[in-house]
Amino acid sequence: MGHETPAGDLRLANLTKRFGVFTAVDDLSLTIPQGSFFALLGASGCGKTTTLRMIAGLEEPTSGQVLLGDRDIAGLRPYKRPVNTVFQSYALFPHLDIHENVAFGLRRRGIRKVTEQVEQMLALVQLEGYGRRKPAQLSGGQQQRVALARALINHPQVLLLDEPLGALDLKLRRQMQIELKRIQTEVGITFVHVTHDQEEAMTMADTVAVMNAGRIEQLGAPAEIYEYPASAFVANFLGQSNLLAGEAAGRSGDEVLVTAHGARFSVPAGRARVEQGPVFLGVRPEKLHLVEHSGAVPVNHQHIGGVITDASYVGVSTQYLVRTAWGSELSAFAANSGVDRWLPVGTPVVAHWDPRHAFLLHREAGED
Ligand code: ATP
Repeated sequence: MGHETPAGDLRLANLTKRFGVFTAVDDLSLTIPQGSFFALLGASGCGKTTTLRMIAGLEEPTSGQVLLGDRDIAGLRPYKRPVNTVFQSYALFPHLDIHENVAFGLRRRGIRKVTEQVEQMLALVQLEGYGRRKPAQLSGGQQQRVALARALINHPQVLLLDEPLGALDLKLRRQMQIELKRIQTEVGITFVHVTHDQEEAMTMADTVAVMNAGRIEQLGAPAEIYEYPASAFVANFLGQSNLLAGEAAGRSGDEVLVTAHGARFSVPAGRARVEQGPVFLGVRPEKLHLVEHSGAVPVNHQHIGGVITDASYVGVSTQYLVRTAWGSELSAFAANSGVDRWLPVGTPVVAHWDPRHAFLLHREAGED
């Protein structure tokens, strides 16, 4: 499957969109490699849909370029672009059966013999045998698959997906995430997926761009942006983080030394975005280990003393809150794999972690 001429990478160059005085997309530049699954992730209002609409041609950029390979497609009308979009509202034609819904793009181009291609598409989305049904006779998940088949039948070079799973319940959404990834691998074209759901973005995409206020905060592989976030915003947007306000005191060998609340810590230099001045020392809750410890906690390397103030059993893990000696709160997740002991509320503990799992971020002076 695929187009005869390779599309090339999709490039956004200094793309900006203003609505009056409000800047929705702010000088955005990025390259989406051909054939990759790319996710634009961000909270409501950060400009991700506007970015997608500029790629689709549904919104005109205030300035900047949309390039596919070497070709600037910003001047092309939406239907002239080798791009198709799947929306959250499936927008199927209710009076047409599934076969005709999928065939629509071919018919519009004047193609009469459509059956073989339609059946190929229905097989791709695992809906063989559903051709004669009407959309209303399908579940939400099945309707979404039809929308996907209809968008792919014209062999676009880029498929844009705007919160396509937003209307599905959690279990179905998980199934469809795996499905979408399989389909993308099979057709091999570029998918650009917009979502506010971090798990969805991380499950499917090769590369995730975290957007905030019209700009990209960080771009990288899911594990990279989770394990080594570039900013406090990204650290908090992707899951939870314990961010300890401290001061970095420069390097000692391969480590950066940090003091926070009177205790000393170190972070491998490769995981430090700054080496001097105000910092956040970040540790993910699942990387924090709690050990019961009564008595004085030595002011030592990599140790924080505290008391458990909440313990919530959530099946796969137990989630603890720990109030530290200096009054802040830490979050720790312990896998319920049967080896860890349940620690009740009120237990005095020491929290520790492997320094290789910590990260160091810039902090504005006064911010904590
Ligand atoms: P959501 O997930 O809620 O769709 P989003 O990240 O996709 O959010 P956009 O829809 O791109 O955000 O909108 C970005 C900003 O631009 C928002 O503050 C929105 O109110 C504003 N905006 C979008 N379209 C218009 C418009 N036609 N006129 C004025 N402002 C707009």
